[in-house]
Amino acid sequence: MELIDLSRELFHRTQVHPSHPPVVMTVWGDHSEKKVAGNTTFTSKALSIAFSDHAGTHVDAPVHFDPRPGAASIDEMPLEKFYTSAICLDLSHVPLKHAATVPEMEAALAKSEQDIRPGDTVLIHMGTNDRLLGKPGYLHDFPGLALESVHWLADRGIGMFGVEAISPAPEGELNFQAHMACAERGITHMEGLANLDKLVGRGRFRFIGFPLKIRGGTASPIRAVALFD
Ligand SMILES: [Zn+2]
Repeated sequence: MELIDLSRELFHRTQVHPSHPPVVMTVWGDHSEKKVAGNTTFTSKALSIAFSDHAGTHVDAPVHFDPRPGAASIDEMPLEKFYTSAICLDLSHVPLKHAATVPEMEAALAKSEQDIRPGDTVLIHMGTNDRLLGKPGYLHDFPGLALESVHWLADRGIGMFGVEAISPAPEGELNFQAHMACAERGITHMEGLANLDKLVGRGRFRFIGFPLKIRGGTASPIRAVALFD
């Protein structure tokens, strides 16, 4: 069994989408503080963390992008959505800010020698982290999917797709449209993934990425993992 970690680290002031609050981590208590009970002296360390439900590697819940009453929050999504068969498409050659087209998706699928099956998670490697993570451009210059490519994935019956960028489509109108298409088609997506290059050419794998059980959450950080048997 081989596990590949697909998650970004969460740390103080790590880069998040500009429309969400930052990650704030502070030391709540450390080993300088001694607690005495009876004859025993104990010390411990713990952190206090405040973050958006869209911090780091995360999955969006329908309630985030679907204004209709009854759209599911993260705690209402079935766990089966986060434990699926999966493939990864290699679109790492696309330029920054590019919106990947259906012919480009089809070419990447053909190159992967895989098919897309109902319920699949489809991860899309775009070389975003290699080119942008930790730089100002990470927040604005990422590539993503064209609107018709979101529909192309939905047409193949996927459950969700995932990208490394903070958004599934290039910044602005295309990103709004990609989110609205997810609402319309009953799919969702993950943002902020990592290590997708390690999945290219490896074929089919098991995707695991359970969200926290945040009551009414519009998304949740996940520990995303690829499992190869
Ligand atoms: Zn999103």
